[in-house]
Amino acid sequence: MAPLSQNSTIGIIGGGQLGRMLAMAAARLGYRTVILEPQRDCPAAQVANDQIVAAYDDAAALDALARQCAVVTYEFENVPVDAARRLGATLPVLPPPRALEVAQDRLIEKTFLNGIGVATAAFRAVDRDADLAEALDAFGGRGVLKTRRLGYDGKGQKVFAGHPADVTGTFAAMGGAPLILEAFVEFEREISVIAARAVDGAIAVYDPAENVHRDGILRSSTLPARISAQTREAAHAAASTILSSLDYVGVIGVEFFLLPDGSLLANEIAPRVHNSGHWTEAACAISQFEQHIRAVAGLPLGDPRRHSDCVMENLIGDDVLRVPDLAREPDLMLHLYGKEDIRPGRKMGHFTRLIRKA
Ligand code: AMP
Repeated sequence: MAPLSQNSTIGIIGGGQLGRMLAMAAARLGYRTVILEPQRDCPAAQVANDQIVAAYDDAAALDALARQCAVVTYEFENVPVDAARRLGATLPVLPPPRALEVAQDRLIEKTFLNGIGVATAAFRAVDRDADLAEALDAFGGRGVLKTRRLGYDGKGQKVFAGHPADVTGTFAAMGGAPLILEAFVEFEREISVIAARAVDGAIAVYDPAENVHRDGILRSSTLPARISAQTREAAHAAASTILSSLDYVGVIGVEFFLLPDGSLLANEIAPRVHNSGHWTEAACAISQFEQHIRAVAGLPLGDPRRHSDCVMENLIGDDVLRVPDLAREPDLMLHLYGKEDIRPGRKMGHFTRLIRKA
């Protein structure tokens, strides 16, 4: 694929803050963007050239998007696979729809990861209460029960802490949709890697971030992560294997549990730019957003090296009221998403504090 020419249009499915930051990066590289998103004046559309206001699976809207664009990408992993494939029949859809399929279902995802030699927590499919009882037995009574599909930020999960549990009715109480039980992982901390693959197969991997979650939502990412050189290498290798196996083009986020012995278990892959990679806009010459646009536009990948240590913090709900104080700090990059209503748990923005310049 020859690099997209200047003023070409990139379609972005999804209108949240990730789409917004992708649209800004695209503009800086001389590209136009169109957002497909049902919510009018969404964060992404505020900074894009155009918005198609329609559902993600609206056939006429998808066809209109295809007519306007040279390539289509997406900013969230629950884009309907059929929609991605419909678009894929007429223009490149990157990352490839297969990545959506894998990331949308935790059972398919973990099976895929194990199949390419990337370790995960032990897991069992749960389609009725009896499956849950059996799986809990196998995992010593401890596990995390999750919906296979449409779970994010810790939603749709139930922890079993090892006390004898009567599981009768649990399957129905979780919504009656297919579930997965994962063995409970006694992890030391959580890290993630942001990596990218270009059309020509070149791979660039950012330094792993150490992440803190609260109530299932990412609070902060710190660079460098407190990990050994071997662990860093293992994270890089796992991300590279995942990218190559999916014949991937674009940026991916891979979340891992770090075990006390330094080994890693992959928890989740996100076929898109990732919240735990926001620090790259302040601490690297090429942010994850520019990297993604470069990849889907057929440009060479940028250097993922980090020039500073840093901490990225999300501004969730009322945290955004800290902005006037944060704005006074030196070496602090603020990024706000243009969301008017402050609601508990809503990601309003983030900031990255540079700790030490090289
Ligand atoms: P997830 O939705 O899979 O990203 O899970 C949200 C959070 O729950 C993770 O970031 C972990 O802190 C925790 N968690 C998820 N799965 C497990 C597990 N198998 N063992 C222990 N903690 C988990």
